[in-house]
Amino acid sequence: MSTPTPKPKRPRGRAQLLAGKCIACGARCESSCPVNCITMNDAGEPLVQADKCIGCLKCVKVCPAQALEMVFTPEELAILAELDKAGAAATEEVDDEAAALAKLQAQYRGVWVFVEQADGEAAKVSWELLGKGRELADKLGVELCALVIGHQVEPLCREAFTYGASKAYLLDHPLYRDYRTQPYLEACCHLIEQYKPEVILMGATGMGRDLAGAVATRVGTGLTADCTGLDIDDKRNLMQTRPAFGGNIMATIMCDKYRPQMATVRPHVMQMPEPQAGSVGEIIRSDFLIPEESVLVKVLEVLRDSDASHHIDIGGAEFIVSGGRGMMGPENFGILKELADELHGVVGGSRSAVDAGWLPHDRQVGQTGKTVRPKIYIACGISGAIQHLVGMQDSDLIIAINRDKDAPIFEVAHYGIVGDLFQVVPALTRAIRQLKLTRN
Ligand SMILES: Cc1cc2nc3c(=O)[nH]c(=O)nc-3n(C[C@H](O)[C@H](O)[C@H](O)COP(=O)(O)OP(=O)(O)OC[C@H]3O[C@@H](n4cnc5c(N)ncnc54)[C@H](O)[C@@H]3O)c2cc1C
Ligand code: SF4
Ligand code: SF4
Repeated sequence: MSTPTPKPKRPRGRAQLLAGKCIACGARCESSCPVNCITMNDAGEPLVQADKCIGCLKCVKVCPAQALEMVFTPEELAILAELDKAGAAATEEVDDEAAALAKLQAQYRGVWVFVEQADGEAAKVSWELLGKGRELADKLGVELCALVIGHQVEPLCREAFTYGASKAYLLDHPLYRDYRTQPYLEACCHLIEQYKPEVILMGATGMGRDLAGAVATRVGTGLTADCTGLDIDDKRNLMQTRPAFGGNIMATIMCDKYRPQMATVRPHVMQMPEPQAGSVGEIIRSDFLIPEESVLVKVLEVLRDSDASHHIDIGGAEFIVSGGRGMMGPENFGILKELADELHGVVGGSRSAVDAGWLPHDRQVGQTGKTVRPKIYIACGISGAIQHLVGMQDSDLIIAINRDKDAPIFEVAHYGIVGDLFQVVPALTRAIRQLKLTRN
């Protein structure tokens, strides 16, 4: 019996600079090379060390001037010709790692949303996530499932169906009455192990951040916190977009080698879906428990914030009048309050205003403050730094008042008023009062 001759491996070649084509773009080729075989000369052009090049093509792809090409030895060209002749053009070897990865990914199916609750009342972010989850599940062609953990929380499963879930995994037991990391973590990991979802979304709230981090660590997968955008690519990967480098760029992060893919999203970032009354789904009950004695944290008493009645949730407000450094001092916020009162809205602000102590921290809008989606957002004396914009740019209507006509806030504003806010804001308030009077 003759041993079959192994197919020759497709040669990769080496990168080479095409004379006169480099535009010295700033060494993109050098920084893309995974084996550091490119150095730059004084003219800003690359020198490729041919003996080190592994033919990965990265520099060729990254070059904006198509100044790099792959070259082959005569022997390599002969092999290429032979492979092509034998119709073996696509004989790139799928390595073991890629095959194992494909196998792993195929085991995971479904989009899950963790339904955060306290005393049986769901956090609204959970329904917002079901809205986005529906889109993702449709793109993937899989089920959208709610993960409900608590005590006497079965009604939340039915509520989840009205927001788009078709299935709910339910863990209902006194052990889960109050949120504690340990039992919730064990419960989540147990269900993940059993049902293998490919995507898990949680609210970027105190609870969601705590639980998502613990679960991702335990199951050995990636987690992208505070996403502002979620989508699916053509390889079923979750594209998780969030601000990076201090908010100066938006990065899209993928977790393509591990499953499940996990992301948290802040409240009000995703649109709240319309509930569809009468929607039904399947409830899968689990009786998974860990012994209460093994739980290290005991909840003795839950103290409600006594100040809660005075607390203003700008995240849920329909009208927000925000002030920035242009307000010049805390004493001037009275004119914003008057305008907000006329609109039955609330006063918010930029980080500069908060850092200056003109407003409490819970009124800050932006990357390190709250994300808001009011019907009307009026920005007064706010320049429109990207860290502010990411927190308010999805408002239904944005009105900006700024005396600098080139202020970036005007790029996202639907209506821009170039002028002195100390004249414009009181004039707006007077006009609204007048309108109300003429209507009555
Ligand atoms: C990691 C990081 C996170 C951040 N997070 C946030 C965040 O969550 N939220 C946030 O807001 N910022 C955040 N920032 C800060 C952000 O980069 C900006 O510094 C900040 O938003 C600027 O605030 P401002 O627009 O009030 O002030 P400025 O940029 O100083 O703008 C003041 C504006 O007022 C206008 N103005 C002045 N006087 C008048 C007048 N009489 N009438 C009309 N207009 C007037 C000026 O033309 C100017 O455009 C963050 C920064 C970093 C690095
Ligand atoms: S082909 Fe890959 S290894 Fe070769 S020089 Fe370009 S980036 Fe480096
Ligand atoms: S990426 Fe292209 S244009 Fe830029 S330095 Fe390298 S060869 Fe030149």
